[in-house]
Amino acid sequence: MDLALSDEQRMIVEMVRRFVAEEVVPLEDDLDPDADELPAELLAPLIEKTKAMGLYGLDTPPEYGGPDIDLVTRSLIAIECSQHRAGLYAPCYYAFGGARQAQMFEATEPQKEKYLYPMLAGELKAFFALSEPSGGSDPARAIQTRAVRDGDDWVLNGTKLWISGADRADYGLVFARTGGPGRGGVTCFIVETDWPGFKVRRIVHTLRSAKYATEIQLEDLRVPHENILGEEGGGFAIANDRLSRQRVPYAAECLGVAIKAHEMAVEYSQLRETFGATLSSRQGIQWMLVENEIDLRSARLLVLDAAAKADRGESFRTESAIAKLVAAEAGGRVVDRSMQIHGGLGVAKDLPLERWYREIRIRRIGEGPSEVQKHVIARDILGAGLR
Ligand SMILES: Cc1cc2nc3c(=O)[nH]c(=O)nc-3n(C[C@H](O)[C@H](O)[C@H](O)COP(=O)(O)OP(=O)(O)OC[C@H]3O[C@@H](n4cnc5c(N)ncnc54)[C@H](O)[C@@H]3O)c2cc1C
Repeated sequence: MDLALSDEQRMIVEMVRRFVAEEVVPLEDDLDPDADELPAELLAPLIEKTKAMGLYGLDTPPEYGGPDIDLVTRSLIAIECSQHRAGLYAPCYYAFGGARQAQMFEATEPQKEKYLYPMLAGELKAFFALSEPSGGSDPARAIQTRAVRDGDDWVLNGTKLWISGADRADYGLVFARTGGPGRGGVTCFIVETDWPGFKVRRIVHTLRSAKYATEIQLEDLRVPHENILGEEGGGFAIANDRLSRQRVPYAAECLGVAIKAHEMAVEYSQLRETFGATLSSRQGIQWMLVENEIDLRSARLLVLDAAAKADRGESFRTESAIAKLVAAEAGGRVVDRSMQIHGGLGVAKDLPLERWYREIRIRRIGEGPSEVQKHVIARDILGAGLR
């Protein structure tokens, strides 16, 4: 495994690190500690800067005007651009653009005209609705939302739960059952949020204080047949592809905040004195820092290994499950230890640690809980026969 960075990757990492430290972190001093969005007048200049760096729309292919950056470099960028207060919720507040619903690149040309291009231009926002009250870990079996063909339309009925950003979106990808049980019976529909029958029933408040997850109700929602994304019955393949690709930068973001938390803990331990000596002189504290270092180095290797396999065009399903599992779990431990070293300051909103502590906890559940990642890895070890 060769994880030596190229000169170009090193230059990009340096550029993004400077951008975050000089352009993003100072803005946050004037924001609410739980702010999850930037006012348009603050975001616009950031976007101009990422465009000037050639980094706007990271995962966007060149035919759509994007740089289509490889997954290793995107992971390195994700590590850097999560290192600010809102870094786990909104890494650099989306200044780097990107499709976010990357499966829209599989859309038909009319679908692209109507939904993809405006999304890439930042004019439309989209959500992704797979999970339901009946379960999110095993959606192929759990999906109960039904779509029934009626002439040129499909009529959707059901409830979606935990859907991020549906209250602020213009359209979304909704997965519904069009056939029998299991994977082949699920279809993906492009649904507009102002259509009759679409309702955001409530915001689901979580330990993340920003508005985030929603519950959606679909009641006799009519969706034109031409709004199927991909094939009828092919929804699950679309969902899965997205989840495997997303998992690696998602893991990298956990690593990013953990690196920053550790740096803060190292610095603080060298300044703070108790009982006549610095915290860093105590073996109890040194060992916490050592454990942080080991967690960070092992998670970084696993994240970059998964990304490198994806870039080589090799199967990386197991590697991305391992990377996501280790980065979310190890990242959580590092933030926790770093908070402890800061004492009372660790839990105060004066520092970003308490926000990262809450938000990284969600990462052990979102995009597939840790136990489900273990289930994926066990299937690889024991064979596909494992249910
Ligand atoms: C803040 C937030 C935002 C989210 N955003 C979105 C979104 O935008 N779109 C979307 O579609 N979904 C979203 N989700 C849903 C998320 O993907 C699901 O919560 C997750 O997949 C788990 O599903 P569940 O909550 O139904 O738990 P369940 O599937 O009921 O699982 C419960 C627990 O059981 C355990 N478990 C499950 N399977 C196994 C197994 N095989 N072996 C051992 N243990 C197991 C795990 O510990 C798991 O946490 C979001 C969730 C949160 C919390």
